[in-house]
Amino acid sequence: MAASDQLQDRNDTIFGRILRGEIPCDQVYSDEHCLAFRDVAPQAPVHVLVIPRRPITRLDEAGPDQAPLLGHLLLVAAQVARQEGLSGFRTVINSGVEAGQSVFHLHVHVIGGRPLAWPPG
Ligand code: AMP
Repeated sequence: MAASDQLQDRNDTIFGRILRGEIPCDQVYSDEHCLAFRDVAPQAPVHVLVIPRRPITRLDEAGPDQAPLLGHLLLVAAQVARQEGLSGFRTVINSGVEAGQSVFHLHVHVIGGRPLAWPPG
């Protein structure tokens, strides 16, 4: 596979396919900037992913022009947590393989519904 094809594959993730409606998701929130849906392998009773419609590969590849979008994702994360009835919750953005990122389309994990230990693993 050519290097350019690998880059294409890396940029077109499973979340891109969800956004295009090619594969289903359990949607909990949607607006013109982002989509939120339940994680397919939940780590807690509530585990939702908030993703931007315009893909950003990972947090450290975001630029200052994306600050409003990143802020919006956090506000939506809090709104989803309220919607799910959570009184406390955790938001996580894994950035890079070493941090556990497996899907290279930036996403905010919203996790709650059970006691959450600190520090995380
Ligand atoms: P991360 O490891 O931070 O990149 O998180 C990726 C998350 O996406 C994992 O928690 C996966 O369980 C989740 N995931 C992968 N594919 C899907 C899917 N088709 N629908 C919902 N969640 C997914």
